Amino acid sequence: MTTTSPLAAHGGTKALDLPQPHYQWPAVTPELDDAVRAQLHRSLSDRDASGVIGEFEAAFARFVGAPHAVSFASGTSAIHAMSRIAGLRPGDAVLAPAYTFFATATPFAYDGIEVRFADADRYGNVTAATLAEKLTPAVRAVIVTHVWGNPCPMDEIVDFCRTNDLVLLEDCSHAHFASWKGRRVGTFGDMAVFSTNQKAITTGEGGVLITGNDRYRELALLFGHYNKRCQKEIDPSSEYYPYAFTGMGLKHRITTLGAAIGVHQLDNAVDIERRRRAVLARFAAGLADNPVIAPAVVPEADGQHGLYVLGLRFNPENASVSRDEFVALCQAEGAAEVDAPGSTRDISPEPLFARRDPFAPWVPSTPPTTELPGVARFADTFIKIPLWGYEGDEPLVAGYLDALAKVSAVVAR
Ligand SMILES: *Cc1c(COP(=O)(O)O)cnc(C)c1O
Repeated sequence: MTTTSPLAAHGGTKALDLPQPHYQWPAVTPELDDAVRAQLHRSLSDRDASGVIGEFEAAFARFVGAPHAVSFASGTSAIHAMSRIAGLRPGDAVLAPAYTFFATATPFAYDGIEVRFADADRYGNVTAATLAEKLTPAVRAVIVTHVWGNPCPMDEIVDFCRTNDLVLLEDCSHAHFASWKGRRVGTFGDMAVFSTNQKAITTGEGGVLITGNDRYRELALLFGHYNKRCQKEIDPSSEYYPYAFTGMGLKHRITTLGAAIGVHQLDNAVDIERRRRAVLARFAAGLADNPVIAPAVVPEADGQHGLYVLGLRFNPENASVSRDEFVALCQAEGAAEVDAPGSTRDISPEPLFARRDPFAPWVPSTPPTTELPGVARFADTFIKIPLWGYEGDEPLVAGYLDALAKVSAVVAR
């Protein structure tokens, strides 16, 4: 790619001209097609874990390296189950990242639990220090998000939670392949949730609750899998066994077709990881000397990236345009998936989090705004692109590298 050709936005030729959409996940291979078809004939609804639901959960637990995995209809419903299993109730508070997808925190608000929002480090993640700033006597739990696939500094966060007697919850929805200091994310907390919506491992819609605690596992069944499965799997001598028939009032089962997609994905997890890491390495190498953008990826010595998407950090001091102008110029080059994300952002001002009384039909109010300089710094300079990692992605990877290099060369100063 010659850096002297004019930008497409200024009448030049596009860096890439490939049919859209530029990112499709999962890759619908003949094998995936067969797996879903086979499940269609096997069962469309399972009342226990004797079929594909149990196979999916066992495979997911193996994948994370955790004792138990319980599937849910969504990551959101699984996070709600974590809140209830942790015993949180109105009057309690939870510490959560301000910079995250809102479903990290909204299930707590649903139950009238106060959410106290913590600031971010240079990867967009909370740290023990940013959590400590928001600690009050009402706080009983912490939820962290390994945002955009970068693991949070878990050793210090585990220490912080131990010292302050807080339940530690992890939202691993961006971080299916992430580890911190050699240990898989999702195994640090008392419980963790992996959304399997269109994430690096997907079931279409779905979520998985991970725990090493037998009691938490049984309670997770009560919060999503009432009746047959609970009666079969919950210890009859437990104090909550009388609830096995009805559960706690809601049903959040994953579909069997979703679970079949998940089993297929997990069977191919090694290949998915290998390909996505290779794409990440391509971008790291291709952007190594780029003064305008750099991968926002934690150093290898600290942890492994989760491979959901690739985050880039825009350096405004080295560019003659703003971050948003840079994104628009890349899109004009044909790199349509270069994106300044809108849904994952500072969620702390959302009015839902001021609505403390879960039984009030409507309590309009606005939460007090707090200073979150780390969040602002991260969000204002962040750009994301897909990590692809499937058959036929090569022209996209090469094309996006060309587009980023071309625009960077023109706007660098
Ligand atoms: C996707 C996502 C969720 C919600 O999961 P769903 O399966 O869509 O309900 C929660 N937290 C984060 C960080 C997510 O990316």
